[in-house]
Amino acid sequence: MRDNDWTKILGWPGYRVYRAEIDEAAKALKLWVRRKPGNRRIVCSGCGRRVSEIREVYEREVRDLACFEYPTTVVLERYRVRCPDCGVKAEKVEQLPSQAPFSKRFEEAVGQACESAAARQVAKRLGLASSTVRAMDLRYLERWAAGRRKPALRQMGVDEIYLGKKPKFLTVVSNLETVEPLWMGPERKKETLDEFFRTQLSGRQRRGIQAICVDMWKPYGLSLEQWAPQGRIVYDKFHVLQHAQQAVDEVRRAEFFRQGGRKRELVKGKRWLLLSRWVNLEPGQKRQLNQLFSLNRRVMKAYLLKESLDRLWTYRYEGAMLRSLQSWIDQLRWQRLKPFEKLAGMLLDHLEGILNYCRTKVPLGVVEAVNGNLKSLLRRGRGYK
Ligand SMILES: [Zn+2]
Repeated sequence: MRDNDWTKILGWPGYRVYRAEIDEAAKALKLWVRRKPGNRRIVCSGCGRRVSEIREVYEREVRDLACFEYPTTVVLERYRVRCPDCGVKAEKVEQLPSQAPFSKRFEEAVGQACESAAARQVAKRLGLASSTVRAMDLRYLERWAAGRRKPALRQMGVDEIYLGKKPKFLTVVSNLETVEPLWMGPERKKETLDEFFRTQLSGRQRRGIQAICVDMWKPYGLSLEQWAPQGRIVYDKFHVLQHAQQAVDEVRRAEFFRQGGRKRELVKGKRWLLLSRWVNLEPGQKRQLNQLFSLNRRVMKAYLLKESLDRLWTYRYEGAMLRSLQSWIDQLRWQRLKPFEKLAGMLLDHLEGILNYCRTKVPLGVVEAVNGNLKSLLRRGRGYK
């Protein structure tokens, strides 16, 4: 076959095959390529600007799509160039997206295969290590995400997901209008969220953020103050009620240790019931809770406080919302329920962000839905964390 024919079969735009070798015993094909004479546009891989000064020519070897049954390797002549901005850099070549020894379309084929099969199987079929395939799939996903035009981020959600192992938490940023996760990073520190703002958004995009739905978590607050000070912080129902659930759980635990014998048995195993909403319980479960409440008034009070806090988000005017919060706090008097006193203090400290719920309409339920989707995604996931 003439080199000209190999050029057609390979089909790399701007490149021609000048040498081909077939290893029949090993069933392998190797092609050597260089630029076509007319292909003079050389671009810096660091910044994408056009450059003219070539420092050196070297060979890069990458695995490409198989030709019939022959696994194919392409050896490419590549330039090292001198960029006025970046210094000495490799030239940008469309089919060489990373340092890894694979062509772009090979990585794409692997990434697509990983959508319907486990990385382990894909690796076996191609004679590669599983870790290599997983890395390729990640790069494929990243390129796919970067290539998409993203809608403007006006309402932003920040969530933490508890993993329980290292990293213990994951911070997830989502677009609440499109109900779409945008980014995730390890831990839940100020630096975590800082990194999102620094690497994912331009200054103009940051200034376009109107509202941010977030938990009352100081490190996030500090990062938002620095990067999106014009964005209105909204502490939504979902996040606040999570704190109320924790308070119920603390009361339950304290009562469990305070009481002995038969009563202790009653508190035991009721955690899930106590964290559930009354409306979602079966009659039998309601009976179990009522039995518990008749023996322990403190647990009952805690449960009622959690249930009634929900009402705050039914008001559309901040005056009404504020009065409702005040009467909720009044109910705490004489109850000696420390976890709820702590919660009340926290709500008062974050009052502006709670009342912002009336001033900025963040789609109700979306925050919870995004959070739930992410959790199932992580469970089901391709195993990347
Ligand atoms: Zn450059």
